[in-house]
Amino acid sequence: MENRLIYLDHAATTPLKKEVLEEMLPYLTTYYGNPSSLYAIGRESKKAIELARERVAKAINASVTEIFFTGSGTESDNWAIRGAAYQNRQKGRHIITTAIEHHAVMHTFRQLEEEGFEVTYLPVDETGTVDIQKLINAIQSDTTLISVMYANNEIGTLQPIKEIAKVAQDKGICFHTDAVQAVGSIPVDVKDLGVDLLSLSGHKFYGPKGVGVLYIKKGVKIQNYMNGGAQERNKRAGTENIAGIVGIGKAIELSIQKLEANQKYIASLRDLALNQILSKMTFIKLNGHKTNRLPGNLNLSFQFVEGESMTIMLDQRNIAVSSGSACASGSFDPSHVLLAIGLSHELAFGSIRFSFGEENTEEDVDLLVEALIETVTELRKLSPLFMALSGGVQRQSNKRKVKNIISKM
Ligand SMILES: *Cc1c(COP(=O)(O)O)cnc(C)c1O
Repeated sequence: MENRLIYLDHAATTPLKKEVLEEMLPYLTTYYGNPSSLYAIGRESKKAIELARERVAKAINASVTEIFFTGSGTESDNWAIRGAAYQNRQKGRHIITTAIEHHAVMHTFRQLEEEGFEVTYLPVDETGTVDIQKLINAIQSDTTLISVMYANNEIGTLQPIKEIAKVAQDKGICFHTDAVQAVGSIPVDVKDLGVDLLSLSGHKFYGPKGVGVLYIKKGVKIQNYMNGGAQERNKRAGTENIAGIVGIGKAIELSIQKLEANQKYIASLRDLALNQILSKMTFIKLNGHKTNRLPGNLNLSFQFVEGESMTIMLDQRNIAVSSGSACASGSFDPSHVLLAIGLSHELAFGSIRFSFGEENTEEDVDLLVEALIETVTELRKLSPLFMALSGGVQRQSNKRKVKNIISKM
């Protein structure tokens, strides 16, 4: 039987919207002119880029002069962090981030550490939230940069970005937020947040891959990352990815138009899935903050099963989800995010991230839950511990124990 795809991995990427593709296409064919040139066909490209810049600026309440197009969310993160650290090298070498950042941020900080910067990795509590007091305590006289993500890509937890920005501003420290998961999912207003630097990426909100934005607040100085031509007002060299830029502009405009309704709808699917799973299955733990989280994110630990195996079995049913473990160069490491919120290796390895999007339906949720029950039951049969616990007298007390774990979340 050929099943239709049930795509539940919107935190990894989203499908390109048809309206977005349609706006992009002419810039891959008809309007191929280099925007830096002076003749008409070049000016067409330039005009398209500036329209996209206006759309992005409007969507996050920035000025057009504060929007810089990049090659990805990863590049925006690298540029913001390195650019700010290098710019302020003479002032100080202490920089702060969290233990749960995306690799684009985490690995950049690691590299800066190797280059002689001192890095504080702030811990998070069991919901995945940064403690403001711990941040304040970590600040030194030579701290020059704080980078805290807006929304976590694995567990969906939202950080108190406005409060963190206030702390940074009071101390005169540059503040960057990786808002790649937030933009397009929840309202993001750079002025209200008070951030200096903010990263976003097109393919997380139904735009194209390979295009991102770095918002740089007026007056904030950071070093250039790409050297070459005078593109992006001398700050990010390289002939522009015009079709990509057109696409990110259209996609962000569309995402803003129906943001509130989409947020509600996607959260309702997420909650439906959670309630069905908790009522029909046992030994499950919700990861991340119970309420202060992205509308589409659901991260669950299934005790006595291996997330990677579940992902593969769900894929056989044409259901796309993401497991909480990352297989790096042949060695399996549990997710640094799940370990940071206090999960055991076993629970971290048994975690699955479901991330819902606007094209999902209640039927998708029903089919998912059905498939989960079947796959988890099958996999747990391979666990002697589960079989021992779930049979006989122990059953009730352990069920209660797990209910307690869940209710504590
Ligand atoms: C996807 C993602 C990135 C990377 O963006 P790309 O455009 O894929 O390079 C960075 N940070 C977070 C939180 C993400 O979810």
